[in-house]
Amino acid sequence: MPSKKVKLQHATWVEINQQAYQHNLRIFRKLAKKPVKLLVVVKANAYGHGLKEISCLAEEAGVDFLGVNALFEAEALRQAGIKLPILILGYVPEEDVRIAVRNGFHLTVYTPETVEASKKAAKGLNKTAWLHLKVETGTYRQGVHLEDIRRYAEMVAGVKHVRIAGLSTHFANIEDTTDHSFAEYQLRNYLAALEECKRQGLKLRYRHTACTAATLLFPRTYFDMVRVGIGSYGLWPSKQTYLSSVLEGKPGPALKPVLSWKTRIAQLKTVAPDTFMGYGCTYRTTHETKMAVLPVGYYDGYDRRLSNIGYVLIRGKRAPVRGRVCMNMIMVDVTHIPDVSLRDEAVLLGNGDSDRISAEDLASLCHTINYEIVSRIALDIPRVVV
Ligand SMILES: *Cc1c(COP(=O)(O)O)cnc(C)c1O
Repeated sequence: MPSKKVKLQHATWVEINQQAYQHNLRIFRKLAKKPVKLLVVVKANAYGHGLKEISCLAEEAGVDFLGVNALFEAEALRQAGIKLPILILGYVPEEDVRIAVRNGFHLTVYTPETVEASKKAAKGLNKTAWLHLKVETGTYRQGVHLEDIRRYAEMVAGVKHVRIAGLSTHFANIEDTTDHSFAEYQLRNYLAALEECKRQGLKLRYRHTACTAATLLFPRTYFDMVRVGIGSYGLWPSKQTYLSSVLEGKPGPALKPVLSWKTRIAQLKTVAPDTFMGYGCTYRTTHETKMAVLPVGYYDGYDRRLSNIGYVLIRGKRAPVRGRVCMNMIMVDVTHIPDVSLRDEAVLLGNGDSDRISAEDLASLCHTINYEIVSRIALDIPRVVV
């Protein structure tokens, strides 16, 4: 049954299962017990789940921090009335640092220019700039080398309103393998960086390294805060993470997927045998076929690689995608589904009546990861909390 809150004009919508989300947060809170802070990552429109919708639930559930990628996301959260502290994980151009400082957003810093901009902004605004220095431990993405920490410490020494309050890093190879020697190596580098911060007189309140996989597997990585993304949405970072958990003798916690993506049948028709369907004539019927048109395509985030191999759930049964995924539509085969009707609900991702399509199912068909499947569901599709 379509959810009651859904307005009828929605051709497609995403349902967010509030109970599942809260259940997952409880799991992570149990792992990373207070005083360890729980930051949930809500970048990429909360991994496709809806930035505001998820952040409201997170705030209600008592998480300590939100993590976003960019300034505009942090601003959108404040506009939505979210009061939680926010850490911006990604790039903030120097000219925007002032806005971040004015709003009290915590900044990830890895260039001297950002520190300078923070000093200027903090002085001008008479407000504290909260900086989290990111240290290079082996991922070779953002981050400063250990030997440069001193320079950063000197830049803020004696500056009233600028605090390097955090030291962070991010693991490169913790979810894709059951061999965690590279993560161990990065952890050693991080510990060395902490020592260096101590030598430089930095008083760190937020030491943090752990993404979901680290939080599930290695309490040693927690320090003062964990940064949980994918796991909070009820998805495992990878098979290897699950396997590692089992190998360590602790079968993984029962995470519950939060998101379902649905649409409805826009047209039904009977197609004669030996008829091509869709662009490129890549599918040809072998028998009389009942087909349904669904108003969702690659623009909406339904991956074009699902052409001729994806399937959806209608009345609890699998209906295979026929022909190529179009920009705004797909065609599915419903020949075998009794009583199928116009406007019937179709599940693209998530739980149907007696079957489900997981983000991992679609990811494996598309040769990608569950992260990409959920985070690319288009921004303009309504998110409905159920
Ligand atoms: C995205 C991100 C995370 C969350 O990673 P998950 O694997 O989704 O838990 C944590 N830390 C940083 C810096 C990130 O960019």
